Amino acid sequence: MSVLYRSDAPRAAAWAAYFAEHAPDLDFRVWPDAGDLSEVEYLIAWQAPGEFLAALPRLKVLFSSGAGVDHIDFSAVPPHVPVVRMVEPGIIDGMVEYVTFAVLALHRDAFDYVAAQSKGTWAQSEVWPASTRTIGVMGLGVLGRAVLERLATFGFRLRGWNRSRRTLPGVESFAGAEELPVFLRGCDLLICLLPLTDQTQGILNANLFGALRPGAAVINVGRGGHLVQADLLAALDSGQLSRAVLDVTDPEPLPSGHRLWTHPRVFLTPHIASMTQPDTAAPVLLENIRRSQRGEPLSDVIDRSQGY
Ligand code: NDP
Repeated sequence: MSVLYRSDAPRAAAWAAYFAEHAPDLDFRVWPDAGDLSEVEYLIAWQAPGEFLAALPRLKVLFSSGAGVDHIDFSAVPPHVPVVRMVEPGIIDGMVEYVTFAVLALHRDAFDYVAAQSKGTWAQSEVWPASTRTIGVMGLGVLGRAVLERLATFGFRLRGWNRSRRTLPGVESFAGAEELPVFLRGCDLLICLLPLTDQTQGILNANLFGALRPGAAVINVGRGGHLVQADLLAALDSGQLSRAVLDVTDPEPLPSGHRLWTHPRVFLTPHIASMTQPDTAAPVLLENIRRSQRGEPLSDVIDRSQGY
């Protein structure tokens, strides 16, 4: 029974150590030391190119090593092979930390004060209570819900928008394209935690920015493809948006000289909002392998027809 890990190299040793201790019956291999590929039944991968998958005739499950699956070409994955995304406590905690950091930095004008300090300027801004800010989260999945739960502890006014309707305590909820404009109206801060699909590509665009409260800020922790960069730059330049915090871009990294690198009101991070943590992810993944071995339904299988 072979498991092949073909993902982030620095964390491979931690994965291998976990499997060696907790699943000695499984032959855990780390790419490129993969041995006979025809023996591989479980693949843990970020990229899974078609020609590589074609060399795995016994593949039973493809595990994405990250929460998103937009990088996987489903047409290259045999129809009988389920694709499982990564849902694990470490990714959730990381995202909650990052979004909380970004929200509080925006709420308390931290980016303005960094700029003021660099000029030696002592200039106080009004301090607004959290209860005066309306924060909207797009995508009420595992991550969006965890983020809202934490933000609620600060007393912000919270809204959520989702494909299907979700009722969350203390969150005004909106569903579907027809309720998007009402959801956006009055948002001071918008957080994108959607998966990237044909429906959500380019959703952060001029129309959407124009529906937010003037001077609103945007945090994109979904995927770079959600954002129309030219529309963001225009909205920042016109003052419709005050700031953007971007953890994801398209492409990654941005080419040198791109305006987003140097825009004074853009805070850019290199796709680090959250990362799969071997210590917490390996037990979750191993449990799914055990389910597969017992012939039980797997957790966190993505719906190929929806793209997430
Ligand atoms: P989930 O699959 O748990 O949730 C996705 C949510 O988005 C679901 O609630 C779904 O609605 C909703 N949704 C999907 N399509 C639409 C649509 N067209 N309109 C409105 N709502 C929609 O994903 P996660 O919460 O785990 O992760 C979300 C994304 O976060 C990932 O896909 C990934 O791109 C990104 N991510 C970024 C990271 C980073 O470091 N920057 C790290 C990890 C993830 P429904 O309930 O109806 O299915």
